[in-house]
Amino acid sequence: MTSKKQKKSKDVQVVNITTNDSVTRTKKRVVLDFPPNVLQTPITYILAKEYDIASNILRAEIAPEESGKLVIEMTGLPEKLDEAIERIKGYGIEVTEIARKVIFNMDKCTHCGVCISVCLAGALKLDKDFHLQFIEPKCTVCEMCVPACPVDAVNIDI
Ligand code: SF4
Ligand code: SF4
Repeated sequence: MTSKKQKKSKDVQVVNITTNDSVTRTKKRVVLDFPPNVLQTPITYILAKEYDIASNILRAEIAPEESGKLVIEMTGLPEKLDEAIERIKGYGIEVTEIARKVIFNMDKCTHCGVCISVCLAGALKLDKDFHLQFIEPKCTVCEMCVPACPVDAVNIDI
């Protein structure tokens, strides 16, 4: 199983999502460290109500009257995500953005090429020996190749 260890970095890769109304939304994953005095702040409500940001809570470690930690994936317009993060920091909550990247397990990969057909970014190709090549700088971490792989050789590392 791919290591899921978290990497703290401001070099965040974003995922572009084009919706039916042609509005481009992006994703950011962040770790929020709450001091005890703001544990009751309804962060996900504020994100939805004031910034039109959908929150997916990936992990929560919060004990009453103690500091807490929340890992969330936020989806919204890029400028709204940035505004929202500044708002969250304003409560005294430490925000750490999580870099995400795609990991190919070449021990499992059969070089079938299925993932190439779903990679619109052109980050995957077969070389002259028909071996899968991953051109990481082109990867937008859209995650389309993860479910496409028939042998579960692709994972997202956060
Ligand atoms: S996540 Fe996979 S499908 Fe998406 S751009 Fe990266 S390599 Fe291509
Ligand atoms: S779909 Fe999976 S097995 Fe096929 S080339 Fe891509 S990573 Fe390898």
